Amino acid sequence: MSDELKDIFVTQPMLPSLDHVMPMLEDIWSRKYVTNFGHYHNLLEKQLSELLDAPHFSLFSNGTLALLIALKALGLKGEVIVTPFTFPATVTCLEWAGLTPVFCDIDKNSLCIAPDKIEGLITEETSAILGVHVYGIPCDVLKIQQIANRYELKVVYDGAHAFMSTVNGTPISDFGDATMFSLHATKLFNTIEGGGVAFKDPEVKAIADKMKNFGLNQGLPEITGINAKMNELQAAVGIANLDILGAERQNRQKLKVEYDKLFKNIKGIRTFSDIMSESLQYYPILVNPEKLGYDRDRLDSIFREENIFTRKYFSPLCSEYPYMKNIAKSASQDMPVAQKVVRDILCMPFYGELLEDGFERIKAIVQKLKK
Ligand SMILES: *Cc1c(COP(=O)(O)O)cnc(C)c1O
Repeated sequence: MSDELKDIFVTQPMLPSLDHVMPMLEDIWSRKYVTNFGHYHNLLEKQLSELLDAPHFSLFSNGTLALLIALKALGLKGEVIVTPFTFPATVTCLEWAGLTPVFCDIDKNSLCIAPDKIEGLITEETSAILGVHVYGIPCDVLKIQQIANRYELKVVYDGAHAFMSTVNGTPISDFGDATMFSLHATKLFNTIEGGGVAFKDPEVKAIADKMKNFGLNQGLPEITGINAKMNELQAAVGIANLDILGAERQNRQKLKVEYDKLFKNIKGIRTFSDIMSESLQYYPILVNPEKLGYDRDRLDSIFREENIFTRKYFSPLCSEYPYMKNIAKSASQDMPVAQKVVRDILCMPFYGELLEDGFERIKAIVQKLKK
């Protein structure tokens, strides 16, 4: 019976067996080289560059600093047009980089920044568009690039959820000047904490590589930097995790199919599987309260009563944060789609092991919902 009440969280970290990690730790200990671009850091950087098909790929201590440095290395100034429907890190990076966020509404189908709303927000001060491939759903990368070309803007993507996503077979990081991937424990592929950026221009990568190491060039200060290096322990966990990534992806794929089947016949719940590309990061659902007979908050509490911790990602909108109201330029009244979505969205628990352990409980609850 106690098993019935086991907590089910929205995700659980993919962890390699300790047997696999220990020999690498022993090797790191014997080398006494534990950070600063060591053997395992360089190996993981190369392996991820190949896996993501991103020739100018750089590792960082976490995704947030990775994004911050990407913005700095691109030399952005002034205003950046950004989605309000994301995790705080996306937008706080802008503030740390001295840039002004200008919030743009989202598209009702993709939930990503709405390309047709971008142009109206461009001013003399605009230097870039920062899109988020939210839940791994690709932004409208082609339209965004057209706008950027027309106004000579840079394009940066927060691809924290888009590890291995593609757009019609093209790796997602082919689009934009830089794409950040988060390698945090809650993300599909993790190094416990960690991040990476795929840069388009090798010269920008070279600047970022100095920036993450105090701005040093061959040991001498050259530009303003910070410390955002990935250490050898993080890299070793990543290397070990690469070996189980395929199995985790397969299990998540199966889980996705089961969720699709489960929600298919529930009127009032929309799923996103058809547009999620290869992303296996989250399983979001959008509630239509009129059709379902419950609103999102009620549905969330129905799950919670059974110790199933669905999450209202990404509520509230970034434009609603108390500290954003004074910083950002656009008011959230201008974002009707984002304001609606943020009330109706819910992320279901999603990780490989769930299918074997816990999914039946979710299924039983969903099947009881009004058809
Ligand atoms: C997780 C996440 C980040 C931050 O990445 P960290 O590696 O945790 O710093 C940034 N943006 C989005 C959309 C995220 O989900």
